[in-house]
Amino acid sequence: MTNLERIKQISQSLETGITGFLRDMIAIPSFNTEKNVIERIKSEMELIGYDEIRIDAMGNLLGRIGNGRTVIAIDGHCDTVSPGDSANWDIDPLKGDFRDGFVFGRGAADQKGGIASMVYSAKILRETGVPDNLSVWHVISIREEEYEGVNWKYLLQEEKLNPEVVLLTEPTNLDICIGQRGRIDIKVRTKGVSCHGANPHLGENAIYKMTPILRDIEKMNSKFPDIENLGKGTITITGISSTSPSINAVADSAEIHIDRRLTKGDTLESAVNEIKELSSVKEADAEVYVPEFNLKTYTGLEYPSKAYYATWLMEKTSPVVRNAVETYEELFGDKPEVRPWNFSTNGVATKGIFDIPTIGLGPSDELLAHTTDEKVSVQHLTDAAAFYASYVTNFNIEI
Ligand SMILES: [Zn+2]
Repeated sequence: MTNLERIKQISQSLETGITGFLRDMIAIPSFNTEKNVIERIKSEMELIGYDEIRIDAMGNLLGRIGNGRTVIAIDGHCDTVSPGDSANWDIDPLKGDFRDGFVFGRGAADQKGGIASMVYSAKILRETGVPDNLSVWHVISIREEEYEGVNWKYLLQEEKLNPEVVLLTEPTNLDICIGQRGRIDIKVRTKGVSCHGANPHLGENAIYKMTPILRDIEKMNSKFPDIENLGKGTITITGISSTSPSINAVADSAEIHIDRRLTKGDTLESAVNEIKELSSVKEADAEVYVPEFNLKTYTGLEYPSKAYYATWLMEKTSPVVRNAVETYEELFGDKPEVRPWNFSTNGVATKGIFDIPTIGLGPSDELLAHTTDEKVSVQHLTDAAAFYASYVTNFNIEI
């Protein structure tokens, strides 16, 4: 029996354990705070017998198996979006319902299922062994849903985690995902001079200064080029506000919020500059900026960051993608679909900003993420666990 055949066999024998662990995680809500679900995952890691387990100051949980010099990181975020009104669900979204070979509930797809498979891949590797040259860090990251990648910015800059590759466990329908469009928030602000609303000619209305800018931005959207694999960038205005001393006074400032989706070749600088270059923006002498936010986590840590989530795309011919494809073929006897995600992931930091080779494979379908139909099959859970263990076992990238 080959290593991978053995891994597959063990993963199938762990079906009850993976399912029970996932149902427990779904029954611990983690849309407001991840503290309780982190404790639950940590105790599972202790039972399995990781070589090292720690929670960093931000609140991410890290478990290591293996002691080698080459570091592989496998990531799963444990926060979810809110279940919303539970009347919209056919089942209780926070129970961990299980029937007909599927686990249901908020996070089943996005992405507590991926965490269950990842943690159980450590149980498999406890039996089959981690190659001597490797250390594998399983990262249970937090606050991905609103601020994807900020967790990894912290892990790479402050925790000095230094992986050669990152494998994301977000849902892919067991496809191999190699990139995604990025996004950036941009604000444009015009300034005016206020005066009494009865004599508007004595002032300068900031809202009127904004009007041609709105039209120019609307026109931009149709001009972005189509990019093979990732698709077009997009732009839209998602908010508008103004200030004036009273509703009987000319507006002294106006501001719009822009949602710009980024494709290959788009960067923070290029996205900001193309707004700054609009003639309407120049004429109005408008300010263009990327807002900063201060992420506060359940541990009390505050971490400032910019609202920029970089595009990333791995070459299909890169050694890391090829290694994953070969492992998939050997394990499942089939060719994987290799494609980008249609949503955003922590890859915006790992590959998008820090250029660490990053790929993803996860149980369930990304189209079920954030829906009231979230579910994952037990078959996907055990297959993903087998893949994560096999990926480590077959890792052959020359560093
Ligand atoms: Zn997710």
